[in-house]
Amino acid sequence: MLKSLELNGFKSFAKKSELEFGSSVSAIVGPNGSGKSNVVEAFRFVLGEQSIKSMRGKSGSDLIFKGSKTIAKLNRAKVTIVFDNKKKVFKLSASEGEQTLNLDFDDIEIAREVFADGTNKYTINNTEVRLKDIHELLASVHVGSSGHHIISQGQADRLLSSNGKERRQMIEDALGLKVYQTKIKDAEKRLEKTDQNIKEVESLRREIAPHLRYLRKQVEKVKQSEELRNSLAGMYREYLAKQNYLLNKEYEDLIKDQTRITDELSSLDSKLAVFGNEQSFVPDVNITKEINQEYELIKSLSLQKEELSRTITRLEVMLEMSEKKHTPKQETSQYVSVNKQDFEVFVRNMNVFIDQASQSQDIVSIKNIVSRIKDSLSLIQKYGEVQERVNENEQVSQDSLNSMRQELASLSVNFKELLTAIDSKQAKIRDFEKQIESMRNDFYASQRERFEVEKERSRFASQQELVHERIGRVRESRQFLEEEIREGVILVGREILSYGETILSDTNFDKTTVDEIRRNIERIKIKLEEAGASQGEEVLQEFQEVSERDAFLEKELLDLSSALESLKQLISDLKLALDEEFQSGIQKINKEFQEFFSLMFGGGSAGLSVVKKQIKKKVSEDESEEDLEEEKQQEEGVEIEVSLPHKKVRELTMLSGGERSLTSIALLFAMSQVNPPPFLVLDETDAALDEANSRRYGDMIEKLSEYSQLIVVTHNRETMSRAKTLYGVTVGADGASKLLSIKFGDAEQYAK
Ligand code: ATP
Repeated sequence: MLKSLELNGFKSFAKKSELEFGSSVSAIVGPNGSGKSNVVEAFRFVLGEQSIKSMRGKSGSDLIFKGSKTIAKLNRAKVTIVFDNKKKVFKLSASEGEQTLNLDFDDIEIAREVFADGTNKYTINNTEVRLKDIHELLASVHVGSSGHHIISQGQADRLLSSNGKERRQMIEDALGLKVYQTKIKDAEKRLEKTDQNIKEVESLRREIAPHLRYLRKQVEKVKQSEELRNSLAGMYREYLAKQNYLLNKEYEDLIKDQTRITDELSSLDSKLAVFGNEQSFVPDVNITKEINQEYELIKSLSLQKEELSRTITRLEVMLEMSEKKHTPKQETSQYVSVNKQDFEVFVRNMNVFIDQASQSQDIVSIKNIVSRIKDSLSLIQKYGEVQERVNENEQVSQDSLNSMRQELASLSVNFKELLTAIDSKQAKIRDFEKQIESMRNDFYASQRERFEVEKERSRFASQQELVHERIGRVRESRQFLEEEIREGVILVGREILSYGETILSDTNFDKTTVDEIRRNIERIKIKLEEAGASQGEEVLQEFQEVSERDAFLEKELLDLSSALESLKQLISDLKLALDEEFQSGIQKINKEFQEFFSLMFGGGSAGLSVVKKQIKKKVSEDESEEDLEEEKQQEEGVEIEVSLPHKKVRELTMLSGGERSLTSIALLFAMSQVNPPPFLVLDETDAALDEANSRRYGDMIEKLSEYSQLIVVTHNRETMSRAKTLYGVTVGADGASKLLSIKFGDAEQYAK
């Protein structure tokens, strides 16, 4: 299966040197310091060894050819190992998101390069890979990374000298159980990661928890606000509908009133127009004129009358005096008495006139009276003149007496007629004055009526003003209502605009009802403000987001917890399986070990035992560490128990070098027998053996080579004689190691 190994610049191999492993046992021989162990280390190197120390170096650069007198130092070393893969035994699982490396080749060529700066490069069939891939690839063909199948010089008793735990690892590796450990480690890593994730998720949940609580409260508030807003919307609609109804109704009523009042006023105005504009009574001009004419007539008639009266008086005086000539004494006294009579009449008349004048307001009549007084006074004057004339004229004829009497009679008739005429005129004036009086009465009556109408008018006018004012108020209320609607829309939303659709089944309400609703609205508004509902949408949105996030985290937590559980289960299953296989592996090894051991020592007994190591440690409060403790407590080591024939020695430390070597070889071979590795490299494992044991060693090598390819570095001729292929290593003149293949026959020759 192992085909070849090629060294190029590795350690003392400055030049490309190739070893082909065509046979089951290959021996590498040569003088001390020629570079045989370097070949063994080349195996370790190419298989991914990470301990430079195990390859006898301090740093990666120590693995590169350091130069000699004739060859310059190199800056890189490369080792290539080729395996036969005709049976397609090599496997490599693909990591997530990566392409599987194509291994469908007859040969698998693994190469590792190291550079002067210590960096490494790994390739599988010329494709660069990670170290991990190399390990995995080798594990698939039972080439473990613990290197138990490569036994370096002086490391033969490594199995004996290592502690129980290391030994267990090597045995596990040899048994091919490393894959379990890898899986367990992998699961544990995932467990740790999951645990960490859980903690992170928990802390995230803890972080958002207060915010979520806060938001939940806010959402409650928002919901309350929503309810408040809904009820507010209902109230608004009812309020608006009712208020609107009231305002409309009031407006209509007022407009009706206004029309009615306007009608009333215009009818009153037309009534008033009839009354005219006179403020005080003015008598009719025509009648006044008539009266004045009558007065003029009376005046002239009175003058005539006075004239006539004077004429009559003169005639009477003249007549009396004429008659006195016949009856003087008697007549004189009569005359005196007549005179006295006249005077009394005169005085009486005067008094009447003065009374009239003083009582009258009418300037015309006063003037008349005054003229009449003047007339009477002139009459008195004339009377005096007549008296004198009477005294002078004593001669009056009888004839003339008669004619005088006749004339007097006729004049008297005229006088009477005049008086009648005057009376009639005065009666006429009185009639006129009566007419004026009645007209005045009519005027005052109409004035009173007009006053009543004006009173009525002003009553309606003030009503009109009132209605006007009320219409203004209704308009203001309407404006206010518009304002309220705008405010309501902002506060509650446009839905309140549909208040018009609200059907008022019952219109039996008044302003008080509406005011009550308004007050309720105000109360709810205050509550709403207290609830602080301004950013409701945002809060709901954020709550939604945060709670979704929380739910997501909760689910994540659940998933992680179940992943954690299944990982724990997986780990315990793996451990159980590992333990079982390990136990059965140990049993198998023990059987072989016992056989090899008694073969080597000619008896005695040897065996491995699994011991549980109790590791004492501090008791920690921390849960995760407790887990770790348990794990440690379960840690099992492997102890070796030997009992040499005829000896009481049981302690490994008390064995001789050869005995130790034999024991470890027996164990190594036993392990290789149970789970044969593809190849086994043994670097001078036989160094401490005597001749007899060398033969037994040679026998065992032959037996082992049935299952594994063997590469032995040896100085032992017995061992060499068992090899089918022999490689000689020498140091050339240039100071570099050289390989030379010695043919089989030659090998035997060489061995001898
Ligand atoms: P022995 O039979 O005594 O065990 P050996 O054949 O196993 O000897 P090695 O130990 O393989 O010999 O070789 C050691 C030699 O390799 C030393 O002489 C050392 O100088 C040489 N060597 C080691 N590393 C380098 C290097 N980086 N460059 C050149 N030579 C090196």
